[in-house]
Amino acid sequence: MNKADVIIVGGGAAGFFAAINIAEFNPQLKIIILERNKEGLRKVKISGGGRCNVTHAEFIPQDLVLNYPRGQKELLGPFHQFMTGDTIAWFENRGIMLKVECDGRMFPQSNSSQTIVDCFLNEARKLHIEVKYEHTVNSIKKKDSTWCINTNKENFFAKKILIATGSSIKMWKLLERLGHTIVNPVPSLFTFNVQDKRIKNMPGVVANNVEVKILGTNLESKGPLLITHNGLSAPAILKLSAFGALELAKMDYRFQIEINFVGKPFENCLKVLKCAKHDLAKKKIIKLARFDLPKRLWQQLVLASTINEDMIWADINKTQLEHLSTQLTKAVFKVEGKSTFKEEFVTAGGIDLKEINFKTFESRVHKNLYFAGEILNIDAVTGGFNFQNAWTGAYIAAKHITNKDM
Ligand SMILES: Cc1cc2nc3c(=O)[nH]c(=O)nc-3n(C[C@H](O)[C@H](O)[C@H](O)COP(=O)(O)OP(=O)(O)OC[C@H]3O[C@@H](n4cnc5c(N)ncnc54)[C@H](O)[C@@H]3O)c2cc1C
Repeated sequence: MNKADVIIVGGGAAGFFAAINIAEFNPQLKIIILERNKEGLRKVKISGGGRCNVTHAEFIPQDLVLNYPRGQKELLGPFHQFMTGDTIAWFENRGIMLKVECDGRMFPQSNSSQTIVDCFLNEARKLHIEVKYEHTVNSIKKKDSTWCINTNKENFFAKKILIATGSSIKMWKLLERLGHTIVNPVPSLFTFNVQDKRIKNMPGVVANNVEVKILGTNLESKGPLLITHNGLSAPAILKLSAFGALELAKMDYRFQIEINFVGKPFENCLKVLKCAKHDLAKKKIIKLARFDLPKRLWQQLVLASTINEDMIWADINKTQLEHLSTQLTKAVFKVEGKSTFKEEFVTAGGIDLKEINFKTFESRVHKNLYFAGEILNIDAVTGGFNFQNAWTGAYIAAKHITNKDM
């Protein structure tokens, strides 16, 4: 009979992290991971463009939670138990040094996600964790105090189970049957499709200090903006896609955005342009980009302001100056759809957070049923925060699973 003390459903980031910690807290326990694929940790392998953005160099829980559109309030307590510094130490203790990039993202020094995959696989082997690949969980039932797990191959039985299947619609349906509420899943972390003359044929162009608002909503963000083949990307846009995931889905990803390319109010921008009219009187407007804007973007914004290619600063009139200031500080673009960001996506939605005890990551609906990772209605902006949620939940669940009468 396939009996274990703890069964973990899902051999991904949260599943392996939980299993390893449980085995370390209590080496006597029999732990089985059930994974539907031929190998586990597939997302870890492809994460961060093959480099695995393990976590983020943000060490204040109150600031760290601000990166989670869903889970902000609930993760504050858990981050006081296990957060970024603990993640760094956890990997360091296993010989893996992490490095910080200038934007705070942290990667293995090897620059390869394989280092993280190998670490998990080696630890699991050393700790005698059984990993059953090609075992898809099809149903979960509780009989007396035992969990019965049916897979495509065999049945398994355990006193405690942890579900870490990520964004799996099938598993959410299964959990609904067990009495859990699922918040409808929608995509998060996507780029905006925009077809507009002002940004046509300039993929790769970056404006660094941009403010973006979604008109008709309270959604706004700041940061770098990248022009792509299809439209707009980079942190200023990805943050909006995450914080606006539900609202933008309702709008069917069709809305208008207002971009301030220079990060200054209209009047201040106008003042700078008036100075340019005086100081650069004989120069062609189109030639010299102002506000450190990329030249091609400046040129398109100038042309969109009813200013022709040959006009010099001395000839620009008041209306044209105002048009240019409008293009620079309040340019409106029509968004028509979304695209995937570098194949990286997460899902907003999942198990309703009201049904989880965040001191333990145990279900409030069933005893001895735990969850960690993306299966919960928690997701973050890009930068290593999604993995941090997986590590934190898995660690705390592992601690509680082993603390409680085992
Ligand atoms: C391309 C890409 C790049 C990313 N890069 C980053 C990054 O650099 N940094 C970051 O923080 N986040 C990144 N993310 C997000 C991050 O990968 C996820 O948030 C994280 O993997 C969630 O971990 P998890 O364990 O909850 O789910 P997963 O890692 O998805 O693991 C779930 C596992 O459960 C298995 N499973 C599902 N259903 C069943 C079933 N019925 N029976 C058995 N097994 C099942 C799956 O096969 C899978 O192995 C990236 C995501 C993508 C798609």
